[in-house]
Amino acid sequence: MHIDARNLDTDSLIEGDICIIGAGAAGITLALEWIGASRRVILLEAGGFDPDAQMQELYHGASLDRPYYPLQSVALHYFGGTTGHWAGFCSPFDPIDFETRDWVHGSGWPFTRQHLDPFYARAQSVLELGPYDYDPASYELRDPDFKRLAVDESVFYPKMWQFSAPTRMGTTYRDPIVNARDVHLYTYAKVVEMVPNAAATAVEHLRARTLDGKEHRVRARHYVLACGGIHSPRLLLASNSRTPRGLGNDRDLVGRYFMEHFEILGGQVAFATAHPFKMYAYPGRGSKGARAEMALTAELQRKHRILNGTVSFQAGALTGQEQSRFASFSGDAAANVKQQEALAARGAARGAAGAPPPNTTYRLFTRQEQEPNPSSRVVLNSEKDAMGMPRADLHWRFTGLDKRSIRVFYELLGQEFGRAGLGRVQMMEWLTDGSDDTWPNHLSGGWHNMGTTRMHQDAAQGVVDADCKVHGLANLFVAGASVYPTGGAANPTLTLVALALRLSDHLRAAVR
Ligand SMILES: Cc1cc2nc3c(=O)[nH]c(=O)nc-3n(C[C@H](O)[C@H](O)[C@H](O)COP(=O)(O)OP(=O)(O)OC[C@H]3O[C@@H](n4cnc5c(N)ncnc54)[C@H](O)[C@@H]3O)c2cc1C
Repeated sequence: MHIDARNLDTDSLIEGDICIIGAGAAGITLALEWIGASRRVILLEAGGFDPDAQMQELYHGASLDRPYYPLQSVALHYFGGTTGHWAGFCSPFDPIDFETRDWVHGSGWPFTRQHLDPFYARAQSVLELGPYDYDPASYELRDPDFKRLAVDESVFYPKMWQFSAPTRMGTTYRDPIVNARDVHLYTYAKVVEMVPNAAATAVEHLRARTLDGKEHRVRARHYVLACGGIHSPRLLLASNSRTPRGLGNDRDLVGRYFMEHFEILGGQVAFATAHPFKMYAYPGRGSKGARAEMALTAELQRKHRILNGTVSFQAGALTGQEQSRFASFSGDAAANVKQQEALAARGAARGAAGAPPPNTTYRLFTRQEQEPNPSSRVVLNSEKDAMGMPRADLHWRFTGLDKRSIRVFYELLGQEFGRAGLGRVQMMEWLTDGSDDTWPNHLSGGWHNMGTTRMHQDAAQGVVDADCKVHGLANLFVAGASVYPTGGAANPTLTLVALALRLSDHLRAAVR
C-alpha cells in the first residue's frame, strides 16, 4: 500500500507494529520480509519514487579533513536509496574480518562469518546474484578460460566476486511493496526526530515532515533506523529535544568510526608473458558474471599485522598523468606544485621510453579496509536544512596502519610475482615516500559509508548490540553498514542485506 504523506492532513497519526525509517537497500530488504506476515509495517521514505533535486539538497554537508566526495552525491534521497547509483560489486566478508585482531583498533564482531553464512545465502537472491558460491574452483570448472595466476596460495588467493545487474531496489521492488496489504509505504515522509519516552528508555514516537511544511506523528512497537551510514547517525544525533547528546549517544559514540574502503591505484605490474586474464576481468555492467581479485591470506595479514585488502587488474600501463595525479603531497602548496611538475616530467619520460607490450601490463587497483578510528566521524553542523534538520558534516581521518597495509600488500605482491617468475610490480610514488601519513591528493573511496553506529556487546564500545538494537533503548534497531565494527575488504551491500535479513528474523520473534 502506498500513501504520499503530502496528501495527508497535517498532524496525522500513523501507527503500526514495526516502523522502518528509510527505503534503501536495508529498509526495502526488511520490508519485503514482512509481506504477508499479518503485521502492520510502516515504511517511511523521505523522498518519492524518482530523484528530486529539492530532496537531494537536504544531503548537503561539508567534507572536512581528508578530501571526500561531495556529501550530496554520496547517497540518494528517494525510494530505493543509493541502489539507484550502486555498481553491483558483491562479495562476502572474509572470516578474518569478524575476528578480534590485536593490531587493528576496535576490531572484532560479536559473531563469526559462519554465523552469517545462511543470511548471505538469502541475500544473494535479494540482490539477484547467483548461488552463494564464492569458491574459485567452481568457476574454473564451469569455464575452462578461467585460469588462476600461478602464485603460492598460502600468500595470495583469488577472492571471488559476483556482480548484481545492478539491482535497483526502488524499481525491482516497487510493485511488491506497493501491492502488499500489510506494508504501508509512506513517501515524502522525512523523519526529523525520534522522540524518546521521559526516561529515555524507548522511542515513544517519530516526527515526520514533508517539504510543504506538514508534520505527522508515527507510533510503532519497534523502530528500525535504515537511513545509511551518514544519515542514520545524523538522525540519532538530531533527536536531541529530550536527550541533549542525541539518542543512543550516552557514550559519545554515535557518528564516530566512519569508515570507507580505499579504492585507489597503487601501482602496475608488467607480466613476463601474456595471461588470458578472464578470471580477473570485470565482466561488464549487466552481465551478472563473476571475477577474482588478488587477496592476501589471513595468515599473511596476521604475520604482517596489516589490514585486509585486494587488488584488481586494469589493462594497460599507468599514464604519466596518473603517476603524477596520485603522487603524495604535503601541506606545503609550493612544494606540491614543484613535486607535481617533476613527477609529470618523469612520467612523460617513462612514456617516451616505450610502453610495455599490450596485455602484459596492468594497473593495480587497491581495495582496502580502513582501520576503525574514533576521530573519523560524522557530526552535526549548526546550519539547518529546509526541513529544519541540522546538516551532517564529515571528518574523514586515517591511521598509519591504513597506508602501511597498502604498502606491505604491494611489497608482498612484488615479492611473490617475482618469486613465481610472473612479472614485476612497480609501486606508485605516494606509496614509497617513506611516510605513513602522506596520501595522494586525489584519494578515492568506494562511496561506502560504514561504522558510524558500530556494533559491540559492551555499551561502552558500541552504539548497537549484537542484535543491532541500540544500547539503552528497548525498541530501536539499526540496519545498514553503519553497524559494522570493521569494514572488511569487500563492498558493503551484500553484508548489510544479510544483516537486514538477520534483523528481520530477530524482530519476528519479538513481534509475536
Ligand atoms: C556510485 C556508487 C557505487 C556503489 N557501488 C557499490 C557496489 O558496487 N557494491 C556495493 O556493495 N555497494 C556499492 N555502493 C554502496 C551502496 O549503494 C550502499 O551500500 C547501499 O545503498 C546502502 O544501503 P542503505 O539502505 O544502508 O542506505 P541507502 O541505500 O542510502 O538508503 C537509505 C534510505 O533512507 C532514506 N532516508 C534517509 N534519511 C531519512 C529520513 N530522515 N527519513 C526517512 N527516510 C530517510 C533515503 O532517502 C534512502 O532511501 C555504491 C554507492 C555509490 C554511491
